[in-house]
Amino acid sequence: MKSILVEDTEHCVFCGNPNVEEHHVFFGTANRAKAEKYHLTIPACNEHHTGSANCPHKNRIIDLALKCWGQTVYELKIGNRSDFRRDFGKSYL
Ligand SMILES: [Zn+2]
Ligand SMILES: [Zn+2]
Repeated sequence: MKSILVEDTEHCVFCGNPNVEEHHVFFGTANRAKAEKYHLTIPACNEHHTGSANCPHKNRIIDLALKCWGQTVYELKIGNRSDFRRDFGKSYL
């Protein structure tokens, strides 16, 4: 996987576990392809991806924290806020 959020894509961003899956910070039908295109992804172990209550697919606070992070990096590296709104439908900042 490639990520513009982290340099180390080999370890879970939450716990350092080297057994990782790729999480698209913006997901769902409309957004996943754009997250893929811009590499707005993070490495997460199964527990911290989908396998526990403490993961972005089940915990809205974790999901929103990652989206704020993702938008911040998008605005540093890809485009401005109106570009972001156009791509992802709303601003999280
Ligand atoms: Zn983890
Ligand atoms: Zn995911």
